[in-house]
Amino acid sequence: MKRIDLHVHTTASDGTFSPAEAVVHAKLRRLSAIAVTDHDTPAGIPEALEAGAAMGLEVIPGIEVSVDYRGKGIHILGYFIDPSAASLRHLLNWVVAERRRRNEEICAAMRADGIAIRLEELDGGDPESVIGRPHFASWLVSHGWASDVNDAFRRFLNRDQRYYRRRSYIPLRQGMDVIRDAGGKPVMAHPLQYRYPEEELLTLVRTLTDAGAVGMECLYSQYDAEQSAYLRSLAADFGLAVTGGSDFHGARKPIEMGIPDVPYELLQKLKEL
Ligand code: AMP
Ligand code: ZN
Ligand code: FE
Ligand code: FE
Repeated sequence: MKRIDLHVHTTASDGTFSPAEAVVHAKLRRLSAIAVTDHDTPAGIPEALEAGAAMGLEVIPGIEVSVDYRGKGIHILGYFIDPSAASLRHLLNWVVAERRRRNEEICAAMRADGIAIRLEELDGGDPESVIGRPHFASWLVSHGWASDVNDAFRRFLNRDQRYYRRRSYIPLRQGMDVIRDAGGKPVMAHPLQYRYPEEELLTLVRTLTDAGAVGMECLYSQYDAEQSAYLRSLAADFGLAVTGGSDFHGARKPIEMGIPDVPYELLQKLKEL
C-alpha cells in the first residue's frame, strides 16, 4: 500500500527538520507523499518541492493556520495552496507581526523573573522562522528550566500558566476564504484536540463546513482506532473528505513521520474534489 503523511512541520515554523531533511526522512520512512504544513508560513514549500523532485517524493504545498472560534485558536490545514498568493501573504504578515508582539510579551515576562531569554535565540538560526510557544519550550529545556517540551508547556506555557500570553487569531471566515483564494483546500486539523463535548464539536464542524472546509483530519498520530472511526463517521455525516497525518515536528515532539498509516488514495480523493 502506498502511504502518505499530510501533516509535517519544518524549520520554517516549529519543526526541527529543514524542508529538505523532512523529504529525506519521508523517503527513509518509505512514504509516497508528504504535505508540508508549517504554521502560518509557506516559506518551506519551495525547498521541499525541489528536494521532492530530486528524490522522487511527491510534496503537497500546504499550511496550518489558527482561526478564531469563540476566542480559541482552531487549526485549519490548507492543501495545494499557491505560496505566492497575495491575499495569503498579506494575512500571514499580520499573523507574524501579532506573534512577534505576543512573543516579546512572553520574553519580557520571563526576563522580569530572571530567566535570561532573548527572542533572537529562538529561531534555530533562521530569522525567517515563524516562532511559537514550542520554541520557548525548547529553550526552557535546553537552559535547564524544564525537563522536556511537554513539561515546559505544563509548568510555564499552557493557558493559565505564568508565561502564557494570548495572541489574536485570524477571523474564521477570513482564514477559510484566504486559503481558498490561494487555490487551497481547507481541512479541519485534529478535531479532538480541543476536548469539546460532542454537541459543541458538532457545532464547530458545522461552522467550519459552512465556512468552506472540504475535509477532516480523521487519522492522526494521537488518535486510536476508535477515535478515528468516530471521526470518519462525522466526516461522512458532513460530506467531508477524510485526510490524515502525523503532525511531525522532528525532535520537538515524540511523534514519528508516517504514523498512523494513511493510504495514498485519500490524497487522490482530495485532489479530485
Ligand atoms: P502558539 O501558536 O505559538 O501559541 O503555540 C501553539 C502550539 O504549541 C500548537 O501548535 C501546539 O502544537 C503546541 N503545543 C501546545 N501544547 C503543547 C504541549 N503540551 N506539548 C507540545 N506542544 C504543544
Ligand atoms: Zn507545530
Ligand atoms: Fe495543529
Ligand atoms: Fe501541526
